[in-house]
Amino acid sequence: MTGCEKSSEQTASIERHAQAHPVDHPAAQLPRQSGAPVDVPVRWHLHPRQIDIQKYRSVLERCSIDENGTIPDLLHLAPLCRDRNEVAFGNFIQALLHHSRYLTFFPRASVNSPPYLIATGYGARFSDRTWSPSDQEMNTREAHAGQTLAVLSNIGLDTSTPITTSTGPMTLQDVVNDSIATFSMQEEPYWVVHALAAYLPPAKSWTNQFGEVFTFDQIANHLMVAKNGRQYSGPCGGTHALQLLTTLLAVDEQSDILAPTTTVEIRHFLGTASRLLERSQDSDGAWHPNWSGDGAGASRYAEPEAHGVWITGHHLEWQVRVEKELRVNDKQLADAARYVVEYLDTIPDSLLNSEPCLLTHGINAIRVALEIEDDAT
Ligand SMILES: [Zn+2]
Repeated sequence: MTGCEKSSEQTASIERHAQAHPVDHPAAQLPRQSGAPVDVPVRWHLHPRQIDIQKYRSVLERCSIDENGTIPDLLHLAPLCRDRNEVAFGNFIQALLHHSRYLTFFPRASVNSPPYLIATGYGARFSDRTWSPSDQEMNTREAHAGQTLAVLSNIGLDTSTPITTSTGPMTLQDVVNDSIATFSMQEEPYWVVHALAAYLPPAKSWTNQFGEVFTFDQIANHLMVAKNGRQYSGPCGGTHALQLLTTLLAVDEQSDILAPTTTVEIRHFLGTASRLLERSQDSDGAWHPNWSGDGAGASRYAEPEAHGVWITGHHLEWQVRVEKELRVNDKQLADAARYVVEYLDTIPDSLLNSEPCLLTHGINAIRVALEIEDDAT
């Protein structure tokens, strides 16, 4: 593979990355021995009668994986695939894990570009948009650092899973090792720390390439600090911080990764957010970017209604995984799920295809909340 030499812009990017990744750094600490990701259980369940189940199923059927999708979009869609033996699902996952399969699955990704899965001084990493920022290729990269690894942990891949970079075979453990070595509080933590919470326990801390030690307690406290006057800040109306705190709390129950004082603070933070959600829900079941009332949330979509399904879907994803006292009451959660299904049933394929992020968060939350009911029938 000689593609790393082809463009001065890309060469500069690779050189910057290489300088930050000296090859003589000692091996990063190992995660827990089993290699399986910690599972975050679903705690709120939805009865099929509480929503229009036919509309839900027809929306789910519109969520398909194909090579015309972007990497960020397909990473959103992959968890919705119920049949993990489905050919398209398998091809996409193999394309992520193996360099040669990536070029076959994504013809838009040039052989002259940096590979998607890159060997580094610490192991391997999935390339994000900064590695290949040209217009035609940026969507063949992950949108957030750690996004691919987080999704792979969600679908249950073990760290012993084989991967192939352009320089040869490795395992998913090598991606975890690189994530540890290159970790920085200057970058967004939402996806990287989600993956580390899945793969590191019972370890509670990790050490990066500069010898800096990080703990899950430190991350949790960082997420709960108000920024720019907003208590609930960060991407997607502050919901990714709530999702990550929910993950940390659930992992702590199984592996004791947090100090008792931190768990008390997280519980208070999540419970307060849920009380705000109970007060700010629209009569149709939707939540909007300014759900917390502490300032106008980001406006991301031209269609005002799209803000509702975007934020409501993101909230449902953490609500289904927290215990009863920390979440919104059952009736209002069912109202939110019903809103998501009714809205998604009406929007055109063109909007779904161009913005699957709108669709996938809410429908994925409903899918896992319904799973027990579906399996029982
Ligand atoms: Zn989001």
